[in-house]
Amino acid sequence: MASQSEVESSHKSSETTNVPVHGWDDLTDGQQLCIEWAWEQDWDQIKGYAKEHGPEVLLGVHREHEKVKKVSVLTLASHYRNPEMVKLTLEAGFDNKGAMYAAAIISMKDSDNSTILRLLLEHGLDPNTDPDPQFEGVVEIFSNLLMLAAERGHIDQAIALLDHGANVNKTVVHPDGHILSPLAFTVNYGAHDICRLFLTRGAIPTTNDVDIVFNFCLQACKGKHPMGLSRDVAIKMFATFLHLGKPDSDVIREGLNSFLPSYRDPTIANITKHYLQGRPFCCYVCEALTAKERDKLHMCPCRNVAYCSRECQVKHWKEHKVLCTGPLNEKGESEAMVKGRHKTGKGAAAGATVVGVAEGGAVATGRKGKKGKKGRGKKK
Ligand SMILES: [Zn+2]
Ligand SMILES: [Zn+2]
Repeated sequence: MASQSEVESSHKSSETTNVPVHGWDDLTDGQQLCIEWAWEQDWDQIKGYAKEHGPEVLLGVHREHEKVKKVSVLTLASHYRNPEMVKLTLEAGFDNKGAMYAAAIISMKDSDNSTILRLLLEHGLDPNTDPDPQFEGVVEIFSNLLMLAAERGHIDQAIALLDHGANVNKTVVHPDGHILSPLAFTVNYGAHDICRLFLTRGAIPTTNDVDIVFNFCLQACKGKHPMGLSRDVAIKMFATFLHLGKPDSDVIREGLNSFLPSYRDPTIANITKHYLQGRPFCCYVCEALTAKERDKLHMCPCRNVAYCSRECQVKHWKEHKVLCTGPLNEKGESEAMVKGRHKTGKGAAAGATVVGVAEGGAVATGRKGKKGKKGRGKKK
């Protein structure tokens, strides 16, 4: 199929790149046939042939020409969305890591279907390896699979990758010097649900991420987000980012202050202010910014958490009841705090838990009272 000069050029390139490159002649006749049939999507031929001649006919990886990228039955089956063929090839023992990575990228580009991706992962695709640009389908080498899922907004694929050990904090360095994280991609491409997913699966916001979040969310609020993210979603994303990511307060303060007042957004500024004061700014469970039936969120009597609905409150109660200090008196003290102060020997057994709560409450309300005073002082 390939001319002599083409084969030569591919050999030349293998010398310079030090990567083994298979010319057409390195493949067995059966492997050549199967790749040709895969181009033509003649899957039945391939299946029949593999049955007759053994599964190794599916294992060829071919680079036809220096300018043409490497192909294989696997990458072509992924390209033509044929999970059955992908499975067959993998079960035949196909284990070229570069081709598997390429097949993953190809399967992720235009569809949120994660069947092929999961097959690849189950057969040993490492979601944390770096892409090999020699393969068909691999164009962007300054991102990884998790970033691709974020870029495309494909949450099922992001979940599949995380379930198979993708490192949610693995960054890449762009040639322009920017360090990009999967989290940054979600903000860049306006994928709120994936941003949330990454944060619940252990993404730790870096200072760089905080800069990116401020930058893109404020751009969106001005109607200038490069991917057309709406103000509404940008604000939701911002709240999610703070609530679940819990970035360092100093970094957040600096982040907001680095923008000119004319560029700031009142809602973003308000959320930031609440965050820095340790006050609830969104539903603890779903990060909604308003209650379902009214504007204001429902505050728990302890004033440490808020909810959009009874449903969310009930969901969180099991966890929160251990920390909840109950209603506060006019001094901002919880009942448990007062009791703890006047605790006597009587009822000490029951008091043990009360003291625990009181201590937690004292910390929480003490912080709150101080911040509250500080806030009032500032207004004068
Ligand atoms: Zn909620
Ligand atoms: Zn409470």
